[in-house]
Amino acid sequence: MERLAIEGGYPVRSGKIYYGRHWVDEDDIKAVSAVLRSDFITCGPKVDEMERTLEAYTGAKYVVAVSNGTAALHCACIAAGIGPGDEVITTPLTFAASANCALYCGAKPVFADIDPQTYNIDPESIRAHITDRTKAVVAVDFTGQAVDHEAISRICKEHGLVFIEDAAHAIGTKYAGKQVGSLADMTCFSFHPVKTITGGEGGAIATNNEEYERKLMLARSHGITHDEDAMVGAPHEGPWYYEQISLGYNYRITDFQAALIISQMQKLDRFVARRKEIVKAYDEAFQNVPEIILQKEIPDSDTCRHLYIIRLDLSKLSCTRRQFFDAMSAENVQCQIHYVPVYWFPYYEQLGYEKGLCPNAEEVYQGIMSIPLYPKMTDQDVEDVIHAVKKVAGNYSLTASPHRT
Ligand SMILES: *Cc1c(COP(=O)(O)O)cnc(C)c1O
Repeated sequence: MERLAIEGGYPVRSGKIYYGRHWVDEDDIKAVSAVLRSDFITCGPKVDEMERTLEAYTGAKYVVAVSNGTAALHCACIAAGIGPGDEVITTPLTFAASANCALYCGAKPVFADIDPQTYNIDPESIRAHITDRTKAVVAVDFTGQAVDHEAISRICKEHGLVFIEDAAHAIGTKYAGKQVGSLADMTCFSFHPVKTITGGEGGAIATNNEEYERKLMLARSHGITHDEDAMVGAPHEGPWYYEQISLGYNYRITDFQAALIISQMQKLDRFVARRKEIVKAYDEAFQNVPEIILQKEIPDSDTCRHLYIIRLDLSKLSCTRRQFFDAMSAENVQCQIHYVPVYWFPYYEQLGYEKGLCPNAEEVYQGIMSIPLYPKMTDQDVEDVIHAVKKVAGNYSLTASPHRT
């Protein structure tokens, strides 16, 4: 068996590879510079074009562009009318923003457990956590795999809840043949550089509901309207007049970020195809590695995977997850863990959340690791990652024969 780099052997590659990376080309840069040379660098035509481009792609009636994915979630909670005393059900296996958005509105995040095989929020656990105060569900398409829309929509309809989808990982994914963005009451996207397409920063909310769209626009820009029909108070004073009719924020996105996102949208299908290719290569390579458990796909999700997660079967390994992670780093494959359960963080602990709330999420968390996945990876990069995973798993395996490669 090959000697591990962490024990003095040669690493599988000489340069570090990271778990995710953006892909910005000359044409993207040209699109951005053209805006910087134009009359509008914010609140101009590119934001509008970005919204129409996303509507066409997702099939949603309305898209509102905002400054980032977190702002998208906050605006969605505002549009859903979430306020103090309300409860919002979400998953603990996510980035903190999926739960923080409820706190921004003075509401309480309630954590439902995950399905231990798909790692997505378990609809039965959502049902078990519904109270008189529940107002909405923030369901995360974890790693890009669509949540169980059929079950979650049914539960939300039965109980009058707003279904907010955190699709920060999931642009390009389809559920039952429909693009993510056209399905939930509101779907939130992020265009952070590690996500499938980027604007540097950026976000958007997709909805089919006109009333939500109106509220999202107000939340994005100070609660101010220029629409005479929407004005409620003072008489029309003159052409300069606008009115603040609710409390909003400055969550606007610039025109040069919008231009980058539009340019990246042209490449989305190509990025999706390449991500699928890499996922297929990984699935094939790891299905017969007994120390590794693969994420289960639900048949309804045609997934553009944002993260590729290997779950270590620690009962078959002589190492801890930390040792596996460090051994991968020494091989020059830099992994990441997605995510520490949100309610484990000190801020949530101080709010009264305790360990043990969601046993499946906590159990899954102990063994997971995200390995590199991004469209710009070369076939050699993919081979190196596979090599490193097999090498580390083989060395720490409690059962592998010394002849295993
Ligand atoms: C990235 C991410 C967000 C936040 O998006 P930003 O654009 O970074 O604000 C929210 N939820 C999930 C699941 C994410 O991965």
